[in-house]
Amino acid sequence: MAEAMVGLKRTHRCTEVSLADAGQTVTVMGWVQTRRNLGSLIFVDLRDRSGIIQLVFDENSVGKEGFEKAYTLRNEFVIAVVGTVQKRSGAVNENLKTGEIEVVATQLRILSESETPPFPIEENINTKEELRLKYRCLDLRRPDIQSNIIMRSKVATLTRAFLANEGFLEIETPMLTKSTPEGARDYLVPSRVHPGKFYALPQSPQLFKQMLMCSGYDRYMQIARCFRDEDLRADRQPEFTQIDMELSFVDVDDVIDVNERLLAYLFKEVLGVTVSLPIQRMTWQEAMDRFGSDKPDLRFGMELKDITELVKNCGFGVFTQAVENGGSVRGINAKGQGAMPRKKIDALVDFAKGYGAKGLAYIAIQDDGTVKSSFSKFMTEEEMKAIIGALDGGNGDLLLFAADRNKIVWSVLGALRVELAEQMGLLDKNDYKFLWVTEFPQFEWSDEEERFVAMHHPFTMPMDEDLDKLESDPGSVRAKAYDIVLNGTEIGGGSVRIHQADVQQRMFKALGLSPEVANEKFGFLLDAFKYGVPPHAGLAYGLDRLVMLMAKRDSIRDVIAFPKVKDASCLLTNAPDVVDEKQLSELSIDIIQGN
Ligand code: ASP
Repeated sequence: MAEAMVGLKRTHRCTEVSLADAGQTVTVMGWVQTRRNLGSLIFVDLRDRSGIIQLVFDENSVGKEGFEKAYTLRNEFVIAVVGTVQKRSGAVNENLKTGEIEVVATQLRILSESETPPFPIEENINTKEELRLKYRCLDLRRPDIQSNIIMRSKVATLTRAFLANEGFLEIETPMLTKSTPEGARDYLVPSRVHPGKFYALPQSPQLFKQMLMCSGYDRYMQIARCFRDEDLRADRQPEFTQIDMELSFVDVDDVIDVNERLLAYLFKEVLGVTVSLPIQRMTWQEAMDRFGSDKPDLRFGMELKDITELVKNCGFGVFTQAVENGGSVRGINAKGQGAMPRKKIDALVDFAKGYGAKGLAYIAIQDDGTVKSSFSKFMTEEEMKAIIGALDGGNGDLLLFAADRNKIVWSVLGALRVELAEQMGLLDKNDYKFLWVTEFPQFEWSDEEERFVAMHHPFTMPMDEDLDKLESDPGSVRAKAYDIVLNGTEIGGGSVRIHQADVQQRMFKALGLSPEVANEKFGFLLDAFKYGVPPHAGLAYGLDRLVMLMAKRDSIRDVIAFPKVKDASCLLTNAPDVVDEKQLSELSIDIIQGN
């Protein structure tokens, strides 16, 4: 029977009670984790968001009726208990913060009962994720998920406090807006009062934060929800959260400075981890050449080595053809993996094919120095020696090579490097390696659209020394864009923005946007720029990913209270769902069946 709370006031959360309170009367409230009957005594572990405390019911203290009530308690009942704190009569539980004490109940109220939950409310259970997400309300009670959500709240609070102290103002920007320039598909919201017209949910606050700079707010921040309707990969959510910011009268170094101090502050306060500043910086070109990735994981080496020069005249057609086609041949050395069974090497070849490789060449150096290789028969002994030497190959090493266009070679070896590190147990989640990647290319070529597209977005400023190549050689223009990378994950990115109308026009032209189209899409920003715009720059973090790494989890779903699954649906609410005919007709919408 559910009772009311009348006359009761909670005095402590469960783990706020300690030995110092011995002899005191406390009132605690929470969920029954377990109940054990030992004849004349009943023990209950009570749980709230702070943790667990042991309650003891004996008839002498709680009375006959209370004792009988305690007998009916089952997991997940919500109860309130008044009792006296005492040193545990039984053994101390080292695993619990409250392991030295117990509360001897003098009053028990059952505030609500519970059916048997579909899975146990415990840390690290093996329950299928679908079931967990369907009953997310219960899943969120589990201590490990709860500590992630609590950590997320801490990160948000500390971020606000730190940035406020640095002179940032928190300003909200609209959710119902026009398409923003991040390049993904928009989520659209039909307008009832403007039949046939749609709002877009923001992909980021980009245009608004730039306008706030025009309006003189100088430093803006927001913990902003963003929406991108992309085909979902494992680690994406259709809606996600950014720590977004923009600053006036600054250049690259100023943005980097405030952000690395923010990161150091968060890691110290939340995890007790010292981030040594300044954080290492690397240009995009160097990151690609050395690690095959614009978000290199620096927790391990296994760097790419370019052997194009060594093999361009060898007898192995796969290598020479790649070079003739303007590509390159590069390799990595998986130290100590030379004895890898053939089957596992074949699996790596398949893995590489997933990244666009036609194949993968290898040299497996056995412990006794003999060499097994997929291409040695095409090589002279000297050539083989030179290649092994270039990769610093020793006995017991496995050397893997990709030969193709640079883009493919980088993506294959970059991914392989991480895959091997994973297999070799080199990825320590307690080791935090930060990196700024700078000087990104301004444009990337889109085969699909047959034109250059902005690598970051169309408002990103080219590097001063590359400005004159905007028309003559756009492919070589570098941008004042930067990403902050942690352990191989991009946790944030941003750029210095263009604030001169003429440069912006040249940029639109390079992107193949006519003045009319540019005006229609971004006219309101360009107009704002006509009336005095300060030089400005900004950055946005993916809060979900940042907290995921801080919480040492593998999935962002574990740090989002109510996440969606891969097909963008919510298993808890069943969204998206059909709506009434009436709602549709109010919106002037007809559903075309079979689409
Ligand atoms: N709006 C950008 C993004 O979402 C970040 C920035 O340039 O500040 O990636």
